[in-house]
Amino acid sequence: MTVAVYPGSFDPVTLGHMDIIGRTARMMDRVVVGVLQNSSKTPLFSVGERVEMLKKVTSHLDNVEIRSFDGLLVDFVHSCHANVIVRGLRAITDFEYELQMAHTNRVMAPDIDTVFLTTNLNYSYVSSTIVKEIASYNGNLEAFLHPEIAGMVREKSRSRG
Ligand code: ADP
Repeated sequence: MTVAVYPGSFDPVTLGHMDIIGRTARMMDRVVVGVLQNSSKTPLFSVGERVEMLKKVTSHLDNVEIRSFDGLLVDFVHSCHANVIVRGLRAITDFEYELQMAHTNRVMAPDIDTVFLTTNLNYSYVSSTIVKEIASYNGNLEAFLHPEIAGMVREKSRSRG
């Protein structure tokens, strides 16, 4: 049984993340999406909200589970009885950091492999950061987010003023 963990901040989940989750679910027996709690950035959404948003947009995928975690990723992967970490690569700018993380994780946990999926070209430019910036200027979010998530981002952004 191949179990993969797809970790990230998902603040908020974008169509790019959803594409990676769907493709991973087709390749692996089980996928755990790990929502990082101790992000150094101040998130727009609480970890509980991010988990709920991910549950909403993955409810049609039977082999996908959403969990939150803090601490070392490799410890979380072991606690999920997983053996693969999945990360998305959008551009060469992602590569250096991702390679360093993959090597570090492999030294700490040689039983875990990191697998990189190249982004779907349609979403290669999409990031949670850009989405939040557009929302702060009341821009249209439907090209980047699931419609329900777009509504939640608009509302949150408005309430933050
Ligand atoms: P982090 O804060 O750890 O980068 P993110 O939630 O921003 O977390 O991203 C989680 C993972 O999803 C990372 O591997 C990132 O490269 C990947 N990712 C983010 N946006 C996209 C996208 N548009 N297409 C493909 N992969 C993406």
